[in-house]
Amino acid sequence: MVFPAEKKLLSGWGRYYRQWSYVFRPEGWNALQSVIKDERVPDLIARGLGRSYGDTALNEGGAVVDICRLNRFINWDEEKGILTCEAGVTLKEILDIFLPRGWLPYVCPGTKFITLGGAIANDIHGKNHHCEGTFGKYVVALELITPTGEILTCSRYENSEIFKATIGGIGLTGLIRTATIQLKKVPSAYLHIDIYQCKNFDDLLQTAQEFDKKYPYTVAWVDCLAQKENMGRGIVMGGTFANPNDLPSRLKKHPYLQKHKQEIKVPIDAPSWALTPRTVGIFNSWYYDWNKSRYELQPIEKFFFPLDRILEWNRIYGKRGFIQYQIVFPKDEIKGFKVLLESLSSSQVASFLAVLKRTGPYREGYLSFPLEGYSLALDIPNYPGTAKLVEDLDFITRRYGGRVYLAKDSLMKPDMFKESYPEWKYFAELKEKLDPDHRFSSSMARRLEIVPQRRRSPIC
Ligand SMILES: Cc1cc2nc3c(=O)[nH]c(=O)nc-3n(C[C@H](O)[C@H](O)[C@H](O)COP(=O)(O)OP(=O)(O)OC[C@H]3O[C@@H](n4cnc5c(N)ncnc54)[C@H](O)[C@@H]3O)c2cc1C
Repeated sequence: MVFPAEKKLLSGWGRYYRQWSYVFRPEGWNALQSVIKDERVPDLIARGLGRSYGDTALNEGGAVVDICRLNRFINWDEEKGILTCEAGVTLKEILDIFLPRGWLPYVCPGTKFITLGGAIANDIHGKNHHCEGTFGKYVVALELITPTGEILTCSRYENSEIFKATIGGIGLTGLIRTATIQLKKVPSAYLHIDIYQCKNFDDLLQTAQEFDKKYPYTVAWVDCLAQKENMGRGIVMGGTFANPNDLPSRLKKHPYLQKHKQEIKVPIDAPSWALTPRTVGIFNSWYYDWNKSRYELQPIEKFFFPLDRILEWNRIYGKRGFIQYQIVFPKDEIKGFKVLLESLSSSQVASFLAVLKRTGPYREGYLSFPLEGYSLALDIPNYPGTAKLVEDLDFITRRYGGRVYLAKDSLMKPDMFKESYPEWKYFAELKEKLDPDHRFSSSMARRLEIVPQRRRSPIC
């Protein structure tokens, strides 16, 4: 390679795949054009902080452009709350600078360790999707380095088709260089949280439906190991921002101040015996009993990013990694969840994390995930039977008209992708026009047959 690239073994956050590629970590954008045009590089894909679980930011045998050093802030309009920055800026950096001034991105996922580029390319959603839509809704404009190395400004008014394909376009239309986003004014860094303990799945769904009407932010944790009359029991939480007057007196004058809690780090890969249905069952029972129904005030950090306090928490699944399986069922087909939970609970696979969220109708791009209904995310450890279990879950998901989130997916088959993302055809047409030589490709794009297998030989 002529450019300074390093051969590296990369994985997604689930560590299910480990794949070799040449990783390029530029400090300036000009160098990128030479990589795009370099004939020896079969293809390339952008990578942010690698928080997608599967292979969307992997490119086995090709180049991966790590954009994290391209993280400059460019412009801030304090009156309108409009921010322009490079795509490698992280959500954490935006929060650190703008939350003390009372501004927050409209859409925050379950971790702040993501980049702006990653948020756009997966058109991510938060706990407020039913009220405020996906991240893409708040992207005013972006600059894209196209597969020919040209820089295009895209918005709803300029190159609008490319804009629509790039939001949720899993990095396949080119490299997002900068983005301009609308932030939201919030009264404090605290939310009133209504916590409700539910004894089974019917109770949980009913409570979730009530909370979705009452609160702009909602989420539910489900105990996937509970069986019989307790099947699908869990905790539903609804939140709304607190006004400074509602805060304890020490915070009234500093409503954006949050106490920094020291992070803890998982130091090693946990041994395979650590996460069994028994150990997870003990944790689930404790967590369920501990979360009695109550109201409390929680800082943004605790409600939005509960897992961020445990750095490298993905290591608790051991060296073999895990799959995150996130699906959405349309609102008329939520009975599918019961079938899915029965299948999971009878397989006695230990899913530590099971999160249910309401999704509204809004999505921005051709490949954006949400459908109006409910979404469920499950962590499934990588055991010998995991691929078969996921195949069974896929079967149920298809039967109830659901779809799997590409940011989390590792194992979906191309026919399921094409059936459940019918707008992929428009995406593929645009991609063919923009990138006929398939310069931008990824392991996921080839696995799902969004682009054909490569004709040029891999570089590693
Ligand atoms: C604990 C945890 C909680 C999460 N919670 C949620 C949630 O609530 N909601 C949700 O929607 N997601 C959630 N996610 C997923 C996460 O928000 C997305 O996967 C996000 O895209 C990760 O951003 P990243 O910077 O790590 O991007 P990566 O994972 O590195 O890349 C993601 C995609 O973006 C593309 N990309 C990155 N940068 C660029 C660029 N500059 N130009 C073009 N393409 C680019 C990559 O090619 C890839 O296709 C969660 C993940 C974790 C680990």
